[in-house]
Amino acid sequence: CSTQLSLMLGRLEINEPKPPPKKHPFTMEDILSAVENREFINYYQPKVSLSDGEVKGVEALVRWRHPEHGIIFPDQFIHLVEHYGYINELTRLVLENALDDARLWRGAGDPFTVAINISMLSLASLGFMDSLYPLIYSKGMSPGDFVFEITESRVLDDRRQPLEILTRLKLKGFELAIDDFGTAYSNLSKLSDYPFGELKIDRSFIHGITDSRSKATFYHACLALAREYGMTVVAEGVETREDWAFLKSTGCDVAQGYFISRPIPADDIAAWLSGWKASV
Ligand code: C2E
Ligand code: MG
Ligand code: MG
Ligand code: MG
Repeated sequence: CSTQLSLMLGRLEINEPKPPPKKHPFTMEDILSAVENREFINYYQPKVSLSDGEVKGVEALVRWRHPEHGIIFPDQFIHLVEHYGYINELTRLVLENALDDARLWRGAGDPFTVAINISMLSLASLGFMDSLYPLIYSKGMSPGDFVFEITESRVLDDRRQPLEILTRLKLKGFELAIDDFGTAYSNLSKLSDYPFGELKIDRSFIHGITDSRSKATFYHACLALAREYGMTVVAEGVETREDWAFLKSTGCDVAQGYFISRPIPADDIAAWLSGWKASV
C-alpha cells in the first residue's frame, strides 16, 4: 500500500508471503518428530501504541520449518498438535525460543513484552503452567516480561478451571490477553470475572472499519467494555493508514497488523526497531 508510514518503512518491510493453503496429511509421527527435532521457530509481530508509536511488545507466532515442505503456518498444524497431545511440548518450545530470541533485542532500548499464544489445553494443566516459571527465571527474565494470549472461543464459557489458572498466572505476574475477541459467542457478562488486562479485537472487525458501520459499532462497544473493566484495547489486523488513523482518533490503545509490520524473524527485529523509531 502507498501509505506514508509504509513508504517510510518500505526499505525495512520484510514480506512473509503466504503460500496457498496446502493440505498436508500430517500424522502423529510427523508431529512427534517435529517436536523432538525442534523444527519450530518463532516469528514476531510488533504491537505499538497508537498515541505515540511506542513499541509495547511483540507477539510470537510459531512457524514449522518443515525439512521438505518449507515454512508451514500455524493454522495448518496447531489443531493437529493439540489433537495428538503435544501442545504442551509446543508451548514450551515457543517459550524457549522466545527466551533465546529476546537476547537479540534486550538492551536495545525500552523493554517490551513478548506475547505467547496459549492453547486452552495447556491452560487445563496447572502442573504444566507452573513448570514455566523456573524456565523463565533461569534465563534472567520474569513473568512480567510476558503476555499470554488466550483465544476467546471457549475460555469464558468453560467452567472454573480456566478462571482459577488464569487468576494464578496473573498473580504470578503474567499479563493476560483475550485474543480474537468478537469471534465467539461468549458470555460477555463473565468478562469482568476474568483477570484479562488486554482485549484484542479480532482482525475481522478492524480491517475496513472506516467503511463498515457494523464493524465500527462493535469496535466502540469493545472500547466501552474495556474502559469499564480497565483493560487495554489492542486492534489486530491493522492493514492500512485509514484503519490506523481511525483507531488513533477514537482512542484505541495499541495496534498490530501489516500496516505496522508483518510477522518477521527474530533476527530482523533489531533492524525493524531502529527503522520504526526513526519514523515516529
Ligand atoms: P492470532 O494469535 O490471532 O495471531 C494473529 C494472526 O493474524 C497471525 O497469523 C498473523 O500473522 C495474522 N496477522 C497479523 N496482522 C495481520 C493483518 O494485518 N492482516 C491479516 N490478514 N492477518 C494479520 P498466523 O501467524 O498465521 O497465526 C494464526 C493463529 O495461530 C494465531 O492467531 C494463533 O491463534 C495461532 N498460533 C500462532 N502461534 C501459536 C503458538 O505458538 N501457539 C498456539 N497455541 N497458537 C499459535
Ligand atoms: Mg494471538
Ligand atoms: Mg488474534
Ligand atoms: Mg487466533
